[in-house]
Amino acid sequence: MAEKKNELKEKLMYKAVNGYDSLSAAEEKKMTAYCEDYKKFLDNGKTERMCVKYCIKLAEEKGFKEYKAGMKLKAGDKVYYNNRGKAIMLAVIGTEKMDKGINLTAAHTDAPRLDLKPNPLYEDGELAYFKTHHYGGIRKYQWLSRTLELYGVVILADGSSVEVNIGADEGDPQFIIEDLLPHLGKASDKEPLNTAVKSEVLNILVGSRPIGKDSEKDRVKLGILKILNEKYGITEEDLISAELEIVPAGKARDIGFDRSLIAAYGHDDRVCAYAELAGLFDAKKFKKTGVCIFADKEEIGSMGVSGMQSQAFEWFIGDLCKGQKVDIRDCFANSFCVSADVTAAYDPNYAEVFEVRNDSKINHGVAFCKYTGHGGKSGASDASAEVVGKLRKIMNDNKVVWQMTQMGKNDQGGGGTVALYMANRNIDTIDAGVPVLSMHAPYETVAKFDCYMTYKCMKAVFES
Ligand code: MN
Ligand code: MN
Repeated sequence: MAEKKNELKEKLMYKAVNGYDSLSAAEEKKMTAYCEDYKKFLDNGKTERMCVKYCIKLAEEKGFKEYKAGMKLKAGDKVYYNNRGKAIMLAVIGTEKMDKGINLTAAHTDAPRLDLKPNPLYEDGELAYFKTHHYGGIRKYQWLSRTLELYGVVILADGSSVEVNIGADEGDPQFIIEDLLPHLGKASDKEPLNTAVKSEVLNILVGSRPIGKDSEKDRVKLGILKILNEKYGITEEDLISAELEIVPAGKARDIGFDRSLIAAYGHDDRVCAYAELAGLFDAKKFKKTGVCIFADKEEIGSMGVSGMQSQAFEWFIGDLCKGQKVDIRDCFANSFCVSADVTAAYDPNYAEVFEVRNDSKINHGVAFCKYTGHGGKSGASDASAEVVGKLRKIMNDNKVVWQMTQMGKNDQGGGGTVALYMANRNIDTIDAGVPVLSMHAPYETVAKFDCYMTYKCMKAVFES
């Protein structure tokens, strides 16, 4: 009797399973190797520009060529389109014509950070600082009292470009934002978390050593400008035509005695970007043309020339279509897109904001998200049952461990991805990606198992 009951249960009930229960030794070996490569990608890609650069290096090693307008391509050809050094799209041409549709995966490689303001450098209390403007959704208190690195480009008066890259090498100096000492924090302690640290307090300490005579003003600031000029040829006005980004210092690290997790800056959304890229590299056959996208500006609304709303996407796909005498509208109407972005993993420490029956769990595999948005799904493209069903079938056919997710309890908050911008183009789109603990924090945590399953998901989509 009891046995029969279990059979019925087995047959009818959906059971969420921990991925380790089905992970073979051979798969675990592949998972570990994949995650070592992913950590290298993170350490080489601390900004969107660095991700593009490293992506091109990897792609060229795999035989990808830079795409030029009107290039003649045939099945199996591999090309990439570098959008201003800040976003990139890679394509492997399929055997089928593009009016039958293409398989897209779209992730973003920008991450929450602190950007320098156009006039950043100032001196106060005989200390020199950079003013910043936060980029994306951050909890400001998390950025205090931790070491920071600086990356970016400065366009000099003559139009030439200088790359700045400070903090990662062992011998490099780093930067810091000071916090208030508890001894004097009595008033601040009573303020709500979201107002206790104001954005205008996120000033980066960059030096303290004065130069010249003590009768002169701003001697510490001048000392910093002298160093910048000697090292990079920069003057203060050059900082106006610059994009300089402050990011948390440190490399990606294994977490836990069992090393099953990885903590790093920028898992959102480099963990999915790398999964797409590796999936594109490793896919065995391309019936449909496969396109992998690293978008910029997702954290601030996907605007601008390098964001997912940019016509740069139509330019690249349109030009590929033109080469096959295909109307881009026919291509879009028949295409399938995985908006590859991270999701919030259930965190038992903050159980009150999660909905345990529907939120994703660590080690339960790649997480599909039917809808994002805020209160009442507002702003979500809300994938159809057919689209969810299609991805589910691809995963089950390819033995990829997957789970369903959403973002916490209703009305607790919300989020968005590039999914709606793809869906608005008449492309069937669904979100799928890696569950993340403490998303948007300077250090986020993911599970190796979920990283690996997301890679397998992307690979299977390209092969479908
Ligand atoms: Mn994201
Ligand atoms: Mn994000």
